Amino acid sequence: MKVTFFGVRGSCPVSGPAFTRYGGNTACVLVEPHGFETKIILDLGTGLHPLGDHLDGLDWQLNGQRNLKPLTAKVLVTHLHWDHIQGLPFFPQANREGSRLEIYGPLQEDNSLVRIYHRFMSPPFFPVGVWDLKASISLHGLSGNETLTENGVTIKVGVIPHQGGLTLGYRLESDTRSVVYISDHQAPLNWETGYVPESVIELCKDCDLLIHDAQYSVDEFNQKIDWGHCTYDYALTVAKASNAKSLALFHHDPYHSDDQIDQILASVLEKNDGKLERIYAASEGMSIDLNQQSSILSTSF
Ligand SMILES: [Zn+2]
Ligand SMILES: [Zn+2]
Repeated sequence: MKVTFFGVRGSCPVSGPAFTRYGGNTACVLVEPHGFETKIILDLGTGLHPLGDHLDGLDWQLNGQRNLKPLTAKVLVTHLHWDHIQGLPFFPQANREGSRLEIYGPLQEDNSLVRIYHRFMSPPFFPVGVWDLKASISLHGLSGNETLTENGVTIKVGVIPHQGGLTLGYRLESDTRSVVYISDHQAPLNWETGYVPESVIELCKDCDLLIHDAQYSVDEFNQKIDWGHCTYDYALTVAKASNAKSLALFHHDPYHSDDQIDQILASVLEKNDGKLERIYAASEGMSIDLNQQSSILSTSF
């Protein structure tokens, strides 16, 4: 199973010289199971735009040439905050004949994900409606206790504490590998005791890679204690408590520069005490192949 990051930022996209190495796009990750054509996309943040370019093989050296192929993909959306859905209107494959996107996300009170997507993607917010796109798009609500399957991949869904609406986490298992995606996670107020909700541990248990919210320092968290996120120390606590093999720090705060993320990674590595095999700070273009001995294959674009 290969995991590639296209958007690693939380809350709001950023650009500029302070963000060139880790990238400024919001949450979007591609998972490709070995031996299957299937593509699974985690969240639809602004990283979806470069993901589309990547799938098209866009080559700026060749005057922007691209290979316009339709896409069949399963999309797993954690929740409906802007930083997790804003890329959809700008995803080239969504407006392409022959594409099929099966989008899963948190069930809404009126049972209608369709109505929610139509609300944010229609005039006056965007010139065309979601149903005007040329791809075949289906939307499916999840309550958080489902198990889905997709061409050799088992997808377990769990509820994750956050703020402002039902939020999901996903565990993907393929052949002998597993990856868990928890993009936004409200730490409990007693997080420094090491407490992790049992449901979170169950979703993450023994996974090969945990991709986890790492938005705040302790000081930042104390100022934004109920904003729906956690400290990068808590990301390590969750990984250790659930016996994860490796951890990717994710959902970087828009106020954290590349140099600050370097320091965050160094401080988490120091606190690891050899428990986890690998710890990464996720960056745009980073690929992790869980079936390879040495995990980082490439920074691919
Ligand atoms: Zn978010
Ligand atoms: Zn959120």
